[in-house]
Amino acid sequence: MPRTPSHKIPNLANLAERGLADTGNPLARGAGFRVVAMTRELGLERDTVLPRPARHIVWDWNGTLLADNDAVLAAVNKVCAGFERPAVTLAEWRAIYGRPIIHSYERLLDMPIDDAAWARVDAYYHDHYRELLPDCGLAEGALDALRQWRAAGGTQSLLSMWFHDELTPLVADFGLAELFGRVDGLQREVGGDSKVEHMRSHLRAQRLDPAEVVLVGDVVDDAYAAEQAGASCVLVSTGMAPRDELARTGAPVADSLADAINHLLPETGVQSLPH
Ligand SMILES: [Mg+2]
Repeated sequence: MPRTPSHKIPNLANLAERGLADTGNPLARGAGFRVVAMTRELGLERDTVLPRPARHIVWDWNGTLLADNDAVLAAVNKVCAGFERPAVTLAEWRAIYGRPIIHSYERLLDMPIDDAAWARVDAYYHDHYRELLPDCGLAEGALDALRQWRAAGGTQSLLSMWFHDELTPLVADFGLAELFGRVDGLQREVGGDSKVEHMRSHLRAQRLDPAEVVLVGDVVDDAYAAEQAGASCVLVSTGMAPRDELARTGAPVADSLADAINHLLPETGVQSLPH
């Protein structure tokens, strides 16, 4: 570990003390885990974290900005029907869901998924999801949250595990394209892996300092991808993961996009809107 100049330590210690005073806000707690890691490296381990300024939001799409839970569940149940398995409820699928998603289907179908089975799962799921996609709307408060962040001086981009060629026209149809500095969907033909590498390349492409980035997403893998990329994360409980599972990541959990943005703004490096 590189030796840290001793004069820097009191500054971090002071920040940690301020962090102790700031921990009433759970979003601030979650936004500061990287600073905790720094203080631990310096031998100043504390049970506190610090807010750090966020200037850029990386938004997740499915389950976060797009309200597609019903379409996802119907598509999952199309897979169940295709494999002659009973249908599941949203709560049951939420309990099973995780990334890499192939393991979720192994649990759902109670069988190993080889390449041939995976191709069938993929076809059942995506064919039906695409049929239902035109009925999906934006999540409640999505447009307001995006506009509020931009009006407050923040930048934002969209990072999705949905296929890029289908994502970009969809985003344009919702009138959102001009709100994002960059839109990245999946460039491969088969998805379902972790978002980690996708997140890293998304930040690199924009020359963003991860320390100034917050990813807003709806599943545990969003928190993992943010952490691995050196960014913060705020999770919303409106998507495809149970709230308690999200909370166990240590990332702050908001119950709506309005909550997420309202709590994020005052703790960030961008200026809050006048009330
Ligand atoms: Mg999502």
